[in-house]
Amino acid sequence: MTINSTVEEAGFAPASRISAIGVSEILKIGARAQAMKRDGKPVIILGAGEPDFDTPDHIKDAASEAIRSGKTKYTALDGTPELKQAIREKFIRENRVSYELDEITVATGAKQILFNAMMATLNQGDEVIIPTPYWTSYSDIVQIAEGRPVLVACQAEAGFRLTAEQLEAAITPKTRWVMLNSPSNPSGAAYSAADYRPLLEVLLRHPHVWLLVDDMYEHIVYDDFAFVTPAAIEPRLKDRTLTVNGVSKAYAMTGWRIGYAGGPRALIKAMAVVQSQATSCPSSISQAAAAAALNGPQDFLKERTASFQHRRDLVVAGLNAIEGLDCRVPEGAFYTYSGCAGMLGKTTPSGRRIDTDTDFCAYLLDDAHVAVVPGSAFGLSPFFRISYATSEAELAVALERIAKACAALR
Ligand code: PMP
Repeated sequence: MTINSTVEEAGFAPASRISAIGVSEILKIGARAQAMKRDGKPVIILGAGEPDFDTPDHIKDAASEAIRSGKTKYTALDGTPELKQAIREKFIRENRVSYELDEITVATGAKQILFNAMMATLNQGDEVIIPTPYWTSYSDIVQIAEGRPVLVACQAEAGFRLTAEQLEAAITPKTRWVMLNSPSNPSGAAYSAADYRPLLEVLLRHPHVWLLVDDMYEHIVYDDFAFVTPAAIEPRLKDRTLTVNGVSKAYAMTGWRIGYAGGPRALIKAMAVVQSQATSCPSSISQAAAAAALNGPQDFLKERTASFQHRRDLVVAGLNAIEGLDCRVPEGAFYTYSGCAGMLGKTTPSGRRIDTDTDFCAYLLDDAHVAVVPGSAFGLSPFFRISYATSEAELAVALERIAKACAALR
């Protein structure tokens, strides 16, 4: 369903730049699951892309203090000097990349960073290479900015990672960007320095292609995975790399809406032009809170990641114990992306045939009362995504229900 089909009946025609954008599959499933819950059905929702932890108290205190001390006015357009300094120090401390303050930008979530970057750089028809499965906003934002998403399928056997050959083959004279996300939403796959190296070699041979890396889940990595960001691996690419990050996932601050990026000065400046006419600046209070998050204690991150790792292990083992499902062990984030090819062609107890991952997820919601998101929403089928950012008790019940529902298929 596109925006067009929903609003045309109201006698309204949207601008062509948004007419091809679909209503998010994730939001649709979420809305259906919530409606079922309101009807008294015991639905377990494993769809949400946010930590179930709360924002730590020292961060909330910094926000209260900002309110009390009058930090309640417009701030500098793309971030307060205090927050930019905290981001600069974070990049040096954690990523070994040094950005000057005017090479750093702050926006209302990493989503707006991506939006600013695409609006600031794409001309109509410019191509952006996006490996699938991908976070759906990537292609939607590219399309709103009138660019052309070039989707490249990255299979489970390749660890859901783009290969150098695939990247080389996808590059054309019209390519403006390649977008990489490690660890990935939805697959949880991450790129080590060795995984990145061949891709960066390809990019070194194509100086017109810029690299956008989304490091949003950098702190949520398992089994001692060594997170690394491309600008640190290959300084020769730093001048055309936008390193995107944010406080939403690591610090459980999704509602505070602060994302940031480091990149070449001219790009950062162009992005500020977009932002200046969209929001003027991110929330002053949230910026104070984000500075406290980056400058403050970091030890709780390890504890929370350990808890996520426990849940990952529970979910991966539970899924792989079910005949017909095949779940790769993710290196990070809080998602599993499990293959469900073994369920296709089967029939549900009520006589419905399962032809696609969307059918399978509809069956799980209707019969098992578990809401998960089909791979079709992320551009790679047949798979489904589970967000395990919920309690172990709830995950255990959900896995039991999924197992029972799968066993009932004929
Ligand atoms: N990147 C990825 C990969 C994400 O999953 C999300 C949130 N779902 C974002 C960016 C955006 O985060 P925010 O706008 O909350 O900073």
